[in-house]
Amino acid sequence: MKITQTPSPNHDARTLPVSLLVLHYTGMETGQAALERMCAGAAKVSAHYMVAEDGHISQLVDESRRAWHAGLSEWAGESNINSASIGIEIVNGGHDYGLPDFPDVQIEALMSLCRDIQTRHNISLFGLVAHSDIAPERKQDPGEKFPWQKLAAHGIGYWPDLKLSAKTQTLFEKGARDRGVAIVQSGLAYLGYAVEVTGVLDAKTQCILCAFQRRYRPARIDGQIDVHTMEILTDLANAKKTARTA
Ligand SMILES: [Zn+2]
Repeated sequence: MKITQTPSPNHDARTLPVSLLVLHYTGMETGQAALERMCAGAAKVSAHYMVAEDGHISQLVDESRRAWHAGLSEWAGESNINSASIGIEIVNGGHDYGLPDFPDVQIEALMSLCRDIQTRHNISLFGLVAHSDIAPERKQDPGEKFPWQKLAAHGIGYWPDLKLSAKTQTLFEKGARDRGVAIVQSGLAYLGYAVEVTGVLDAKTQCILCAFQRRYRPARIDGQIDVHTMEILTDLANAKKTARTA
């Protein structure tokens, strides 16, 4: 794995051990533009690594330092995500540029990098998160086209590989107040999402459900609670429990 050093001035002291790996897309017209922005002091943004479309990897910030990629975000009760994570920017225009596919060569390079980081920092299967998971009200990256399932097949993150039931109906819609909503909120919170268990399908819970669906059920991202969303969530929560007690 060849890595080019392209130092950014945008970092400070890390105050927590690394437990998370946060994936982003750059969301800009070119990778070069993203790299220039992250290396400009005025922008006050960075990431530890950037992976170009052709698989070229640039390192901007040393892993021992805190890069500035997560912004206002929260996961598993921790809001200092930059201190607890390694951040990788994947070059991709994202939602503003037609949501292009991620080339295979880029994903191959990203997977090598992720495996290396996971091993060195002993990051768990459930420590891999999307920017949209930790900032669901502000962010959509790396987007619904990102191949999470492929990464999981290579040991990076967990993918709920289960047979979904034939039922697809919506169980709870916007504004619903029900014990079932509380159960879903508890499951999301258990995974790490910053949701309050209120039993009400409010706007914030819908945002978080959209982030969850964007990652695990990208064919339908509507922020409602349907049968498949519940099945996938249950599988994930059980897998996380098993991983913890193993
Ligand atoms: Zn991002």
